[in-house]
Amino acid sequence: MDASTPTHPDPTGTGWYAPDWLDEAVALPQFEVIDARSAQSRLDLRPKTVTIADLVLFHGHACDGLLRGAYALRALADAAFPGRPFDRTDLLVVSKNSPCLGDLAAYLTGARARFGTHRLDDRLGVGFIVQVLSSGETWEVREEPGFFPPLIAAWDAAVLNPGLVVDGLLELADKAELVAVNEAAQWNWVRAELLPSRPADHYVVRVLNDAELPDALHDGRRTDIVNRDLPGPRGFLSPYEPGPGSTAPRPATVAADIADPWRERYLAGPPQRG
Ligand SMILES: [Zn+2]
Repeated sequence: MDASTPTHPDPTGTGWYAPDWLDEAVALPQFEVIDARSAQSRLDLRPKTVTIADLVLFHGHACDGLLRGAYALRALADAAFPGRPFDRTDLLVVSKNSPCLGDLAAYLTGARARFGTHRLDDRLGVGFIVQVLSSGETWEVREEPGFFPPLIAAWDAAVLNPGLVVDGLLELADKAELVAVNEAAQWNWVRAELLPSRPADHYVVRVLNDAELPDALHDGRRTDIVNRDLPGPRGFLSPYEPGPGSTAPRPATVAADIADPWRERYLAGPPQRG
């Protein structure tokens, strides 16, 4: 096999990892997000679209948890930020410490455990708390109790419990079958119940006043957002406006296309005190 041979089972599409039947949804969530324009730069107000397929790529697989979480966060966004994107420079999120829900929370809100903005509370279940850092406004979304079938939830817990095999309640060969059966039941529920619904039908949003948030796991400084409120430059016209995808010609040196007085000033390095 040479390096150009695709190893992707479906090189022409994304059907195998982001199922085509997601098209059955009456209101499949997608999201708009905004971010800082580069590593130490101001906020870029141009939104980017994040689809379910993008979320699957980040998380690693499609699963019922990822979809339930996406419906929950869509319901929250519709209530908290109608017609506006998630500002990934200005949000704190609380989620259950689930692989699926935690990935979704971090990707869509820009919050990170290592910067103290992604916090954990397993009591949320399939739910989230989202706080706007600059204003303190806080919302919570929770899945309607009983919407996800207790039977599937019971099997989810059973196939995660090594004790059932150790204690002889479940043969290992049966467990292999049951994991596949349970996965089919999860997808059947997604198609029969979740996709025909709208996010607000089963995901309930409320404003939280005086929210008590879990402690941060770590509080590193997030440097890509510290200049988010800086105004744009008035004098210097960057060849990379409006963004890095511009048709700036290839420069010969780092300051080749920076006009004086900034060329000289930049090449002298940062100012030093005294
Ligand atoms: Zn998952």
